[in-house]
Amino acid sequence: MTLDLDGILAGVNEVLGPGRDRQVALHAPRLRGNENKYLTECIETGWVSSVGAFVDRFERMLADYTGARFAIAVVNGTSALHTALLLAGVRPGDEVLIPTLTFVATANAVHYCGAIPHLVDCEWSALGIDAEKLERYLISILTVRDGITVNRTTGRPVRAIVPVHIFGHPSDLDALARVSERFQVTMVEDATESLGSFYQGKHTGNHGLLAVLSFNGNKIVTTGGGGAILTNNEDLAGRARYITTTAKRPHAWKYFHDQIGFNYRMPNVNAAIGCAQLEQLDDFVKSKRAIAERYQDVLGAMPGLRIFREPAFARSNYWLNALVLDQEHTARRDELLERFHRDGILARPAWVPMHRLPMYQNSPAMDLSTSEEVERSLINLPSSP
Ligand SMILES: *Cc1c(COP(=O)(O)O)cnc(C)c1O
Repeated sequence: MTLDLDGILAGVNEVLGPGRDRQVALHAPRLRGNENKYLTECIETGWVSSVGAFVDRFERMLADYTGARFAIAVVNGTSALHTALLLAGVRPGDEVLIPTLTFVATANAVHYCGAIPHLVDCEWSALGIDAEKLERYLISILTVRDGITVNRTTGRPVRAIVPVHIFGHPSDLDALARVSERFQVTMVEDATESLGSFYQGKHTGNHGLLAVLSFNGNKIVTTGGGGAILTNNEDLAGRARYITTTAKRPHAWKYFHDQIGFNYRMPNVNAAIGCAQLEQLDDFVKSKRAIAERYQDVLGAMPGLRIFREPAFARSNYWLNALVLDQEHTARRDELLERFHRDGILARPAWVPMHRLPMYQNSPAMDLSTSEEVERSLINLPSSP
């Protein structure tokens, strides 16, 4: 079967519609709700910085929407992940299991803790960590010493596992929770792409000890830049709030800090935008699911490719749609990308996997053949609401 590049291009153009912009981004923010009104409120009252009513309101809205008991708003998803990993007990010299197919921030946050990312493979149904393959691998490399799970080959403790809900599609969280329990490695969800996505009817970010969200400009909900930590554990929520505000002991005038903290709290202006955005989240999800359906209708039956669909156990926000080339056509991926870009369609390949980046190429890793396959064959398509 041949791959019809002209047909694919025409199909994507059909979905984007005749009046499209000359350049179509992968994901552009939509700021047509109360963003302006709330920002003006911040400026007129002078509450622009890291305390203010919008931060509290944003956190409450996040908790309500996701069903998590606590949400702590921070400056970005990376700082949320850094904080969550520290609270999960990740220490210098530990290993943390992360998918090799992820955005670099997941690996960087592990490194910020002084820990080492241990790269694991994904599976095709959700593009998340392959729980079954991981379990077989862990049986062969892990041992328990004095109650601590240790990598036999490196001698280092394996402290945590970070499932990533790739392009908004929930990973198989029940299967991953079983792996986490069996081997006593704490689960922290990287839900930075999955606000609005549900696993077995429950919002993502409720299955690990902690989870993180991102509100970067290209995510489904943006605060300009921002992130949040989710947890159902009150003690962890308090500690998250504390270490992200420089670990300052509450006092009317005294500056006393009893540990090294971080200046990670979200400013009120960002939270103001976030409140307005969350009011529209249901509409965004609806619109993105409709876009996914359109891609499916127009391109789904073309030879040589498929449009990626949510896994059976999930209801996805379809943050980024993806076209998947059949394995025999992956050599033409870059040619197709070039065609898209020449036509102003800023489609992108998946991230270069972590094991091929210079900083992480020597990280411990299992067989990563499925991630390699995914990376070769996948192209993200414009998905703005
Ligand atoms: C966006 C993203 C992050 C980081 O979020 P920032 O807000 O950009 O720091 C982390 N992991 C994944 C998988 C992401 O997509």
